[in-house]
Amino acid sequence: MKPRPTFPAKLDTTLARNRPSTVGASASTVTKTTAPALPVGTTVRTRSVAAAVSLGHGMESSAVRARMVQKLAGQGITDPQVLGAMGAVERHRFVDSALINQAYEDTSLPIGLGQTISKPGVVSRMLELMRNGQSGKLGRVLEIGTGCGYQAAVLSLLATEVYSIERLRGLHDRARENLRHLRLANLHLLFGDGMEGYAKGAPYAAIVAAAGGEAVPQAWIDQLAVGGRLVAPVVTAGVSGGAQALLVLDKTPQGVRQTVLEAVHFVPLKSGVA
Ligand code: SAH
Repeated sequence: MKPRPTFPAKLDTTLARNRPSTVGASASTVTKTTAPALPVGTTVRTRSVAAAVSLGHGMESSAVRARMVQKLAGQGITDPQVLGAMGAVERHRFVDSALINQAYEDTSLPIGLGQTISKPGVVSRMLELMRNGQSGKLGRVLEIGTGCGYQAAVLSLLATEVYSIERLRGLHDRARENLRHLRLANLHLLFGDGMEGYAKGAPYAAIVAAAGGEAVPQAWIDQLAVGGRLVAPVVTAGVSGGAQALLVLDKTPQGVRQTVLEAVHFVPLKSGVA
């Protein structure tokens, strides 16, 4: 499948402005960015410093990203909104400079403190499952495991409000730094134990976890709206060695319906903060 003519959405041009941020470095639990996000598909015709970033392949980052999007489509991702958002967010801005050349490969990469940024293939698969073929944006979405903030940025293009929780202070701070220049007004970064969810933002149209636990915490199910969907890696029951699979949980008026999909490899879901 070929990307639609509007691809890649030019979110990258906003990244290039690199305006000083008004987000403070306070230890408050909620960090809110300040300016409106560009909708997917918005084209801003300003000179893009980001586009001039060489990734070591003699290619503009937008071209490398467009190739990544084509590969994702080739792997079976069909949701145009997901593909558009994946094409819009500059993944190379979220990884260590030593890893920039690998930023658009379908691989997970270390982001510090023993954690990893998920593969683009897995991010897009989870977000496509989360959207479940809906037209338009989702409402409020909760992400467990902000990590470097990459998936949170992609999510912010697919939902009206995104709450993203991280339990490691060092990564919460790093994500805030990584996301500062994007100034995504609808993205709220939280420091805390995501196993408790975030009741203040509930009910959520969707919940996405980037870390895998033994079971889905009851708080997540409670905070999911009826009609909402949760996508999370879970340790597969009965399988030794902690093998994980992707779980899709739909909260319907009749109750909870769970579907276990393919095997995945995520960092473990841990309780408490550090
Ligand atoms: N979406 C992230 C992926 C980060 S890896 C990205 O794009 O980079 C998963 C993250 O989940 C790790 O940073 C880990 O610290 C975090 N995590 C694990 N258990 C958690 C919990 N109970 N609450 C919040 N975050 C948690």
